[in-house]
Amino acid sequence: MRSIEHFIDGKFVAPANAEYFDKRSPVDGSVIARVGEGKQADVDAAVQAARRAMESDWGKFTTEKRVELLYAVATEINRRFEDFVEAEMADTGQPRHVMEHVFIPRGAANFRIFADVVKNVPTEAFRMATPDGRGALNYAIRVPKGVVAVVCPWNAPFLLMTWKLGPALACGNAVVVKPSEETPATATLLGEVMNKVGIPPGVYNVVNGFGPGSAGEFLTMHPGVDAITFTGETRTGTAIMKAAAEGIRDVSFELGGKNAGIVFADADFDAAVDGIFRSAFLNTGQVCLGTERVYVERPIFDRFVQALKARVEKVRYGRPQDKANDYGPLISHEHRQKVLSYYRRAVEEGAEVVTGGGIPELPPELAEGAWVQPTIWTGLPETASVVREEIFGPCCHIRPFDGEDEVVALANDTEYGLSTTVWTTNLARAHRIAERIDVGITWINSWFLRDLRTPFGGSKHSGIGREGGVHSLEFYTETRNVCIKL
Ligand code: NAD
Repeated sequence: MRSIEHFIDGKFVAPANAEYFDKRSPVDGSVIARVGEGKQADVDAAVQAARRAMESDWGKFTTEKRVELLYAVATEINRRFEDFVEAEMADTGQPRHVMEHVFIPRGAANFRIFADVVKNVPTEAFRMATPDGRGALNYAIRVPKGVVAVVCPWNAPFLLMTWKLGPALACGNAVVVKPSEETPATATLLGEVMNKVGIPPGVYNVVNGFGPGSAGEFLTMHPGVDAITFTGETRTGTAIMKAAAEGIRDVSFELGGKNAGIVFADADFDAAVDGIFRSAFLNTGQVCLGTERVYVERPIFDRFVQALKARVEKVRYGRPQDKANDYGPLISHEHRQKVLSYYRRAVEEGAEVVTGGGIPELPPELAEGAWVQPTIWTGLPETASVVREEIFGPCCHIRPFDGEDEVVALANDTEYGLSTTVWTTNLARAHRIAERIDVGITWINSWFLRDLRTPFGGSKHSGIGREGGVHSLEFYTETRNVCIKL
């Protein structure tokens, strides 16, 4: 059995108390690795290694030197592309094409993009007047925050982790990563990459484990951590914010969503069906930006529901390695129980089940996997739990609407504010809607498409702060002002 250890101070190390937990394949339920569980002693060791790194070579490197190293990290990830694809497929069970075309390339790109950002960021300067007429020059310098804790989810583990690591390292911080207990493999593999390209020991550390009473809690509570960046559930964000209050540490949060997909009658119909299919069912619906609430303008409502149903019923279940398969399992049986409980509640609350609603019939070799059917409902009021709460599964409720004002009110009637996708050929309307919906990103005739230099984050309960391009510098650096009397 393969063991996954922590990566601390440039070395793979067993957990201090020798405790391990099983990582199971979501595809067939088999145990695929035993993973070291991090406790206080492991977190202490990782944070101390990171602090030492900040005081040694890494803290003194020029921006150019860091940029060179981050390019090398991206190149080495691409050289070991297949290892990353295999590792992430095994942990998540998601199809090869998603790994190959999105999750792993984007992970490598996260190092390049942020290397480019820090290389090109201008220095802010202001010349001010003074009573003696000589003036003064103010300029801002940016310094790293210090040791950043990176707490990650399981749904796109490599992409989401590197999205934080790229800017954290580019800005000169050292990090301690706590991957999700469900997906430790690619964070571990990245340790090999860091050593290979010469990232100094202690700059990148990984401590595996769970959240409460385990590595996640010990890390976020640790006084040696200067800032915490977290992606995950809103409820966990609340717990981490309480931990961060001790010591007044900065947080950057990317949290849950209950995003609306909006389709106007004038939309390119086939493109809209395809777009909503991807936004609701990609990664088996385990995407924070996914659309579990779909609103379709009344004249095309029935036709749209039938077309989406037909598309959903074509998904192919199977092992991720088989290129023909386009649909994976949920991450775990625990998560499947949660999703299935919503499937039952939808029926109890009066939904019409258009398709799905349960566990698919599969060959015996997949029967122990965490599979669920992709599911579409109609007919529920907006107060129904599956319309209000984030399920994080392959499902959506579709409701008809009449006109812009109604759909804007429906889309905004949620505690979340992460994203929305709007399908229309009316450009003026697209702009109007984008301004009126309270979310961090609005897609028009697209979904899950974003230049990494743009700001990303959520409003309301979906997050705190914006990351991406120069926006990431606000979190990963401290800005100091220098004022020189001339
Ligand atoms: P989660 O909150 O359960 O876990 C995320 C991480 O936090 C894991 O590593 C976990 O071990 C750790 N953790 C849990 N409790 C903790 C605690 N008390 N202290 C410290 N660490 C703790 O989230 P998940 O189930 O892994 O991921 C799914 C959620 O993530 C969904 O809500 C989804 O919307 C959200 N998400 C948001 C974005 C975004 O960009 N907004 C992206 C991806 C996922």
